[in-house]
Amino acid sequence: MKQRYNLLIKSLKLVWDSAPGWATANSLISVIRSFLPLLLLLLLKNVIDEITTTASAGGSVSNIMMPLLLLAIVWFLDEGFADAGNYVRKKQSVKFEDYMYGLLHEKAVKADLINFENPEYYDNLSRASHDAPWRPNNILNNLISILRSLISLLLITGLIISFNWLPAALLVFANIPGIWLRLHYADILFDFRRKKTPEARKAAYFNWLLTGDKPSREIRLFGLGNYFRELFRRSFLKQKEEELEIIRKRTFIEILSDVFKASAIFIMIFYIADQAIEGSVSLGSMAMFLLAFRQGMIYMKELFGSLSGLYEDSLFIGDTFAFLDLKETIVAKDKILLPETLKESITVENLSFSYPGNEKKIIDNVSFTLNKDEVVAIVGHNGAGKSTLVRLISRLYDPDSGSVKFDGIDIKRFEPDEYRKLFSIIFQDFMLYNLTAGDNIKMGRIDHNSNDRMIDSARKSGAMRFIEELPGGFETSIGNLFDESRELSWGEWQKIALARALYRDSPILILDEPASALDSDTEYEIFSHFREIVKNRTTILISHRFTNVTLADRIIVMDHGRIAETGDHDELMARKGLYYSMYNKQSSRFEK
Ligand code: ADP
Repeated sequence: MKQRYNLLIKSLKLVWDSAPGWATANSLISVIRSFLPLLLLLLLKNVIDEITTTASAGGSVSNIMMPLLLLAIVWFLDEGFADAGNYVRKKQSVKFEDYMYGLLHEKAVKADLINFENPEYYDNLSRASHDAPWRPNNILNNLISILRSLISLLLITGLIISFNWLPAALLVFANIPGIWLRLHYADILFDFRRKKTPEARKAAYFNWLLTGDKPSREIRLFGLGNYFRELFRRSFLKQKEEELEIIRKRTFIEILSDVFKASAIFIMIFYIADQAIEGSVSLGSMAMFLLAFRQGMIYMKELFGSLSGLYEDSLFIGDTFAFLDLKETIVAKDKILLPETLKESITVENLSFSYPGNEKKIIDNVSFTLNKDEVVAIVGHNGAGKSTLVRLISRLYDPDSGSVKFDGIDIKRFEPDEYRKLFSIIFQDFMLYNLTAGDNIKMGRIDHNSNDRMIDSARKSGAMRFIEELPGGFETSIGNLFDESRELSWGEWQKIALARALYRDSPILILDEPASALDSDTEYEIFSHFREIVKNRTTILISHRFTNVTLADRIIVMDHGRIAETGDHDELMARKGLYYSMYNKQSSRFEK
């Protein structure tokens, strides 16, 4: 209970921080609105009684102009505040969403990369991104609604009690089953929605396979449409049918509780009608009490609806805070200032690493030194651990044991963002940004805008030739998401990615399979002036193409997470080990 209370307070603080002025306006309007219905009822009673008196005295309608006018003004105020309230609420919720998306996105891009290996993280992220933008604001609105309906309800109950305590007691009594019901089902639905997240993610994934751009070709070619449709339907219906079943049961009990309310209304009407016929209440009073009773029922429903909404919010909001409070472990430990550039070497010492949920050491006690301005190639079979090693060196992951040292200093002591600025990396699965060609290149160093450097990088990467042919040159949008953009071939994207890495102009360059989709002319062109491209940069080149690998000063051969051999091409060939056999297999294919 205490924890729920803390979560509610934390949520309200978020709402307040996002837009204090609008939150105040929203609350004030709601409180003002809570007094108006009572006023309306009293004025209505007054009008009816005045009509009755004026009619029996033979007067005209002009005699009751004032009460009529007052009624219309208060009616207008009630409606006017309702409309203004809608705008204020919308404005405040947009401000809040904007604020929350900010927090959510900040966390999502800061969270340790290793989290993405954990399905629980995905579930939490998906629940948080679903709930965070609106749930805390819902808490505020529920609280306001509780306050508003409570004030209105108390005023109206006061009015009813002034007449007779029986209808007031009926009002409360008739709503008890409904209250219990809502709280009970809030728990059940929460448990259900929590459990269904993995299933919902599955359904969303199948939906993406069926509607996304990337899968569209294979889906058609392999005729997988019906297969994935079926998988989608199964996941979708599984969660929806369970939910429907819960709601079906709730609806059934709800209808039973409505019988309760209808009986209360019957008793009330019967009682008042009896009093009116006896002449002990005026027609105006009768109309007022009937309306008050109905209004009271509505406020009661609103009050408990908001209370149970608040209860539900407090259940769900925990996930959002669990995500927002997630601790980053990739941070500077015992922080020192990062040197401006690499002076001597990066040393990898006894490095070991396994992915979460898998005991197997993907990097197993690896040690080597990367000297300044040296070009080192890493080769090895698929799955040998080459890409993982690069992620450890650039501190996207922290190792389980061992260390990476930058000029003798453990990289854990540097601010990770600062440290990564020293690296230009083309990952195997580099990103395609649906922006202009120029922006795609400048993305390499977002804080530095230089057209000269952009052109130079495009030349060196071989991208210049096709960019010049685009209708707007560097200004042409590339990709296929937006109108008037041009889609590129995979090899062209790869050139753009290479240009982006070169634009970054960092002292350390890491190329993970940079030429896999390049045509042989381009590959030849790039690698024939490879030395010039990597001049004054410490470079790691991961490649399966031995013709490129031979350009390196030193070659590291990895096998099952370990270093099997190191040396230059000639030394490794002379050893007749793994490198020799891999090299021969590749070259024999060409010689045949
Ligand atoms: P390489 O680059 O040499 O082909 P990787 O470093 O990509 O090898 O992968 C080495 C092994 O690590 C793979 O066999 C795979 O089982 C595992 N692995 C790679 N990436 C991940 C990941 N994101 N999550 C879990 N395991 C992974």
